[in-house]
Amino acid sequence: MSKKQNPGHKGINTRLAHSGHDPHSFFGFVNPPVVHASTVLFPDAATMVSRDQKYVYGTYGTPTTDALTSAIDELEGSEGTIALPSGLAAVVVPFMAALSAGDHVLVVDSVYTPTRNLCAGLLARFGIETSYYDPSIGADIESLMRPNTRLVHTEAPGSNTFDMQDIRAIAEVAHAHGALVSMDNTWATPLYFKPLDHGVDISIHAATKYPAGHSDILIGTVSANKAAWPALWKTYSMLGICAAPDDAYMTLRGLRTMGIRLARHQESTLAIARALEGMPGIARVLHPALESFPGHDLWKRDFCGSSGIFSIVLDVANPDHHQLKAHAFLDALEIFGLGYSWGGYESLAVHANLSDRTIALPPREGPVIRLQIGLEDVADLMADIERGLSAARSA
Ligand SMILES: *Cc1c(COP(=O)(O)O)cnc(C)c1O
Repeated sequence: MSKKQNPGHKGINTRLAHSGHDPHSFFGFVNPPVVHASTVLFPDAATMVSRDQKYVYGTYGTPTTDALTSAIDELEGSEGTIALPSGLAAVVVPFMAALSAGDHVLVVDSVYTPTRNLCAGLLARFGIETSYYDPSIGADIESLMRPNTRLVHTEAPGSNTFDMQDIRAIAEVAHAHGALVSMDNTWATPLYFKPLDHGVDISIHAATKYPAGHSDILIGTVSANKAAWPALWKTYSMLGICAAPDDAYMTLRGLRTMGIRLARHQESTLAIARALEGMPGIARVLHPALESFPGHDLWKRDFCGSSGIFSIVLDVANPDHHQLKAHAFLDALEIFGLGYSWGGYESLAVHANLSDRTIALPPREGPVIRLQIGLEDVADLMADIERGLSAARSA
């Protein structure tokens, strides 16, 4: 599929179909069993003390969660992966693993809003200071590093506005200062970007999105390299925040088809994004794979695909009319649902709230509408968007 893959490896869809579970380890059944577990029995008292067996208690993993985490390890090239009960928990736990009272963390300004809430709330309460940086900062992040900066958190493309980041340049500077680098890689999945190959230490996924893929599961994964894994595992094992067995099973099930789903999301989304560029009523299309997008060169250099979520900026000169026009657009849609999250089979639209931005400021031309392109037919989705544009025009 891409020049960036090691040709010695099997193809990505082959790996997605077979990784994580060896059928012959469980009577030949193609899928792993769903192990519901708290207690695990020990053969004798001595083993109970030494804990010298593969599984000791449900919170530390089961054959079901291991099937998922080892499949993710194979995709990420990581030392270890933990599975958590939501994507948000997958952001919180690595922050808690990397940071202590008195530390400083650098966070990209185009970050997923609940990550910002974590920094302003829990982390501040625990004596950890956060500074925000421009997504386009690259190696200039040097000027923001402090002696107590322990973590640089990246997210590319950024939430809602899809700002790209020079991940490798940032990682080099962070490492020179003894800080770890985390990345929320939910948009690309490890199919289209492998953070650990670009200097990132900790790769975070809201597996709720493409891996689960059907808008019916909340789950997160965190994958770490050798340097970051021991502290991540230690913190995870102190918290008791672990993914449930049925959700882990269903996410592994989702992974089996993620390659073909993503290929279709990519194709439909690009067709729609290209068709919308230059259309009356649309000021700009924010999609990193479009040549017109400011971060396009970084996307082209580092990524080997694009997924199914992007934004349009409606052309609404008067800021007092932004909300009115955005709501007219959304209310006219018949196929796109109005709802949060994304990565499922169905299309969704939302008026992005960018009021928390301090550096990567919202586009001035008009309201930002985020579109998740599902697996429906492109012609039907285009007709729906045209209905929205026409309603916005006459509102
Ligand atoms: C959705 C999302 C999350 C959180 O995932 P949940 O499973 O909904 O908690 C984290 N990061 C990004 C970039 C997301 O889009």
